[in-house]
Amino acid sequence: MITVKTNILLIYTGGTIGMVKDYNSGALKAFDFNKLLKSIPELNQLECTINTISFDDPIDSSDMHPKDWIRIASIIEEEYDGYDGFVVLHGSDTMSYTASALSFLLENLSKPVICTGSQLPIGDLRTDAKENLITSIQIASLHHNGKSVIREVGLYFEYKLYRGNRTTKINAEHFQAFASLNHPHLVESGVHLNVFHEYLLPYKRKKKIIVHKIMDENVAVVKLFPGMSLFVLESILTTTGLKALVLETYGSGNAPTDTLFLDLLKKAISNGIHVINVTQCSGGSVIMGQYETSTALKKMQVINGKDITTEAAITKVMYMLGAGVSSELFKSVFETSLRGEMI
Ligand code: ASP
Repeated sequence: MITVKTNILLIYTGGTIGMVKDYNSGALKAFDFNKLLKSIPELNQLECTINTISFDDPIDSSDMHPKDWIRIASIIEEEYDGYDGFVVLHGSDTMSYTASALSFLLENLSKPVICTGSQLPIGDLRTDAKENLITSIQIASLHHNGKSVIREVGLYFEYKLYRGNRTTKINAEHFQAFASLNHPHLVESGVHLNVFHEYLLPYKRKKKIIVHKIMDENVAVVKLFPGMSLFVLESILTTTGLKALVLETYGSGNAPTDTLFLDLLKKAISNGIHVINVTQCSGGSVIMGQYETSTALKKMQVINGKDITTEAAITKVMYMLGAGVSSELFKSVFETSLRGEMI
């Protein structure tokens, strides 16, 4: 594998990586990213040409909205032919949602889209931003036989590249802020960049990229907990316009056997609401029918989220609803891995 002179587009959306401290309030606020890049002379040593597009209004990722995911996907669509790879600079708080969403919006991707950010601003003495940024650009530049090595949406943080739609933010403080418990990391940065080819998405014969631009937000998430009020659940399930519920269950997909609870779900399903069973455990998979406490869910045709993350489940549902997948096909399409997001 060799690194050739490549063209990389940095898309700056906001987040800590490009923030500076407001001297009056001490709070972090977004800063002109082009100016910040000038303060990283190391970038000149890279074997690539780097251009930057910045959101006019860089945002903390807590303000990310599906329309911003579509904005990023549209930039990639417009610039697709002119670049070998894309690095999306993003706040870490909702980066797993964005990486998951982009994986669904960008169908037949044949170039790398690497999301990265940092826990400390780029100007900070002990920043993790420089390593994350520089290595993300290097990974986005990897080529073999004229093809990009990474042809999927990845998330790079603290020496590891993960499949984006497999990640979850697990730590608000540590530089190692993300985990991908159900899929091994794709690249590890040490003295060398080690690419684990066996874990990458398989190479598909040349198909043209399709950029989807509709996300349907009529989705809710409910995390089960002992003592949860059925009134609350009922009011969520009867929300006007609701089309899907991601239900975070216990362990391998287990839920209470209480008839009132099960009846609420049954009624919602018969009203056309898609109910998806994902586990609230960070690792492992839903196995419906393994315990009596999930048999009823299986019988009423609750969708099996298998080992998908909640972030990927929410964005997959938004994407599938946006793409107009019919009610008849919804369960089987959801239970199929579309972008390597589940087994
Ligand atoms: N609050 C910031 C954000 O997600 C944190 C970060 O950038 O890591 O935008």
